[in-house]
Amino acid sequence: MFPSSDYHTHPQGHNVHPYTIDLLQPWIEQCRAKGIRSIAFTDHDRYIAGVDFSVIDHLRDLNPDVQILAGIELDNDPATSTDGLHWVEQNWERLDFVLGSVHYFSGETEMLDRAAETAQIESRGVSRAFDQYVQELEKLIARGHLDCLAHLDLVKIHGLLPRDYDPTKLFRPILELVRAGGLAIEASTAGWRKAIGEQYPHASILQMAVELGIPITTASDAHSYVQVAADYERLAGVLDAAGVTETVTFQRHRPKPASLTNLEDL
Ligand SMILES: [Zn+2]
Ligand SMILES: [Zn+2]
Repeated sequence: MFPSSDYHTHPQGHNVHPYTIDLLQPWIEQCRAKGIRSIAFTDHDRYIAGVDFSVIDHLRDLNPDVQILAGIELDNDPATSTDGLHWVEQNWERLDFVLGSVHYFSGETEMLDRAAETAQIESRGVSRAFDQYVQELEKLIARGHLDCLAHLDLVKIHGLLPRDYDPTKLFRPILELVRAGGLAIEASTAGWRKAIGEQYPHASILQMAVELGIPITTASDAHSYVQVAADYERLAGVLDAAGVTETVTFQRHRPKPASLTNLEDL
């Protein structure tokens, strides 16, 4: 199946860039060029100052042929995520979609996924680092106010894996929490642009998600509009091999099978 939604995008990139039609319209043009019918803007919660729901409403009026979701990527940043969570609580009704991410090990102030940042993994030992990452995921899920987990096995980003690593064994308890919490997970192409050279999550985790009946979204983690739906042809092959026959769209935090999503209902 060829995915027709991209639910992880960063129009603001790595700074506060207040939403304007000029900033957002190219993302919609790229959706049309790539056959994407539904997109979620999910800037990092440290850039909430730039998110403007009225601009998103205007953008929807200008582009009735593409479903546009107001979203955010809420993480476990020790400095900003308390404010981020508070903002999500306050704006829950205006948001369609909240991604949850672990970017920090406990006690660290730098993100674990920065390019060439292997020291945080190596100093812990790879196996302990993976265990600690999973513990942070458990805390994130317990904190709540999420719809979907982003890049579930991000800790592999640098290509360092524990000896005898079994992704299904490590991540099964997380997927059970995901299912119990009614959350989705994303299948993301971003890992192909990193040292690991593999989509998130590992194919065996995707397969287990299918078996558990967990809804799956598709995502590029684009930090520029040119990356919208990046490598989706390749992702389509991974989804087919993992037995994913249906992905979901979201509206106001409610998942719906993508094949049943009708633009007239929006
Ligand atoms: Zn992220
Ligand atoms: Zn992201």
